[in-house]
Amino acid sequence: MILAVLPGDGIGPEITDATRHVLECVTQALSLDLSFYVRQIGLASLQASGTTLPPSVLEACRRADGIILGPVSTASYPSRDEGGINVSAELRIQLDLFANIRPSRTRDGLPYFGRTPMDLVIVRENTEGFYADRNMHRGSGELMPTPDLALAIRKISASASARIARAAFELAASRRRHVTAVHKSNVLGVTEGLFLREVRAVAKEHPDIAYDEQLVDSMAALLVRDAARYDVIVTTNMFGDILSDEAAELSGGLGMAASINFGERHCMAQAQHGSAPDIQGRNTANPTSLILSAAMLIDWLGRRHHDERLITAARVIDQSIDAVLQKPSTRTIDLGGPLSTTAFTSELCKEIDARPIR
Ligand code: NAD
Repeated sequence: MILAVLPGDGIGPEITDATRHVLECVTQALSLDLSFYVRQIGLASLQASGTTLPPSVLEACRRADGIILGPVSTASYPSRDEGGINVSAELRIQLDLFANIRPSRTRDGLPYFGRTPMDLVIVRENTEGFYADRNMHRGSGELMPTPDLALAIRKISASASARIARAAFELAASRRRHVTAVHKSNVLGVTEGLFLREVRAVAKEHPDIAYDEQLVDSMAALLVRDAARYDVIVTTNMFGDILSDEAAELSGGLGMAASINFGERHCMAQAQHGSAPDIQGRNTANPTSLILSAAMLIDWLGRRHHDERLITAARVIDQSIDAVLQKPSTRTIDLGGPLSTTAFTSELCKEIDARPIR
């Protein structure tokens, strides 16, 4: 298996180095067949080749078995005409990575900020919705008819709603068998109505999985009050983005928020957080979210290729992170611990090496 590694901007190079190091440890420990090629994107690539995403890198991603994308400083990019392509958005659209899977789980011994522990997954539609910069075939979904009037178009299709619903029910079948659709159909009756129509149709095909619905505003409150009651949450693009950051923070912190983006053929690991330019180059970033995202990627690859060793490797990484984070002395600075990015990575590799599971 070959993984394309794109370091990105800000803390991206630090946390992608850490992630690659952990994958190399687990490759050695479990005799996996994993190799990597690293390609420049983002501001480094803009300076070297005039674009944040060279066509050759996009092609390398198409050829790879999986992709590890570091965070990108999109807020600092010039316009697309000047080479500033939003790498994350472009890869999601070009590779049709329609499902964004964002788990949030409290971990033994680690403080959490909601009123209950939680173990839930937000399944977010990734290709349309209110993401006006990418929801049109040509042009933008945002327009300005006059200097004092701006409009944004939100796109919901039956096909995208149905396929994200199927992804949610398939995931729920391997978990606690409960799907909650989050919507705002009381205000956006037409678009949210279409989304719900499709999710309800998929729910009918899965009578063995409990199904309910929740308005997005009350969901924001319920995540704080009683996140323990949720298993799999399926929702549209923007709601999923916002709720998943909330859930991640409530479960312990954005530094542990993992995610994958997948489609029919490709899968990309990507931390939920941004490029954190305020702490870049200090060796203080918490690499956990990208490491856990990479573990989700190799689990996805393991299931796709029926390779039990990859599935085991993902579990070993997850359990090793639990073990390391349990002790206050082996936590990173954002979690109140003393460890730098590199020191935490070394601790994690020691824990992986010490695990009896082979
Ligand atoms: P951010 O997530 O980068 O940072 C928010 C806060 O969390 C900062 O204080 C940061 O230091 C901290 N933080 C984030 N990740 C951390 C980690 N791993 N360890 C320790 N602390 C961490 O959000 P922002 O500041 O709003 O955005 C910065 C840049 O990232 C912008 O250019 C934005 O467009 C971009 N962004 C990229 C992505 C992505 O690549 N997927 C996602 C969101 C934002």
